[in-house]
Amino acid sequence: MDLVLIVLAAATASALAAALGVLPLLVRPTPPTAWLAWANALAAGMMIAAAFALAEPVQGAASGAFALGALVGILFIHGSRAFSQTEGLALNRLDQATPEYGYEVLLVGSLHSAAEGVAIGAAMASDAAFGVFVAAALALHNVPEGTLHTAVFRSRGVSLPRAAALAVVANLGQVVLAVTSFAVVVAAPAALPWALGFAAGALIYLVMVDLLPESYAGAGSTSIALAVILAMWAFSLLHRVLRG
Ligand SMILES: [Zn+2]
Repeated sequence: MDLVLIVLAAATASALAAALGVLPLLVRPTPPTAWLAWANALAAGMMIAAAFALAEPVQGAASGAFALGALVGILFIHGSRAFSQTEGLALNRLDQATPEYGYEVLLVGSLHSAAEGVAIGAAMASDAAFGVFVAAALALHNVPEGTLHTAVFRSRGVSLPRAAALAVVANLGQVVLAVTSFAVVVAAPAALPWALGFAAGALIYLVMVDLLPESYAGAGSTSIALAVILAMWAFSLLHRVLRG
């Protein structure tokens, strides 16, 4: 199969995994805040581990480009959120009254998933097996993120199936950016450390400014720390096993 099709299939499967986030809501239609905080913490742990994995293929002189790319990734997330005035938007305000809250959550989710799309595309361009691993790991992390998004959309009065569909829609940027960044890096291999750095910087920054503060606000700090560490550890273990 053409590699572009593999990138498309892997990123699409990863985006669709968000729909699985609906499962906890079948058990508890109005989930406790702690569940959402733990979901966030699991996603955060996997994103930190993914960012470190992205640094692995970078060696020697490419390290400078990787670091600068990371800076651009941080500025991209910071700038686009400042521009759209969604900075510091809490994702667990199920009782939030403003009508635009649902759209803001969708926008923030789209920016977030776009950065993860660059991670999939760049990883795939560096090594196909590594790319499939990053896509699979991000698919796994899309499940708790999907739970969070589905719960927010449900609290806006959206039906469960449509809320799950919206959680997938929030991840479509992942598919577009995965294919685009793959194509760019294949056409211009010098862009690889930049793209890997961009994704790593954006992922870590999202964890620091969005996921962790919200997690700590929603549940006890010990349980959040354990969830983050567990997710990081599971991701790194999987990475090591698959790398052989
Ligand atoms: Zn994420």
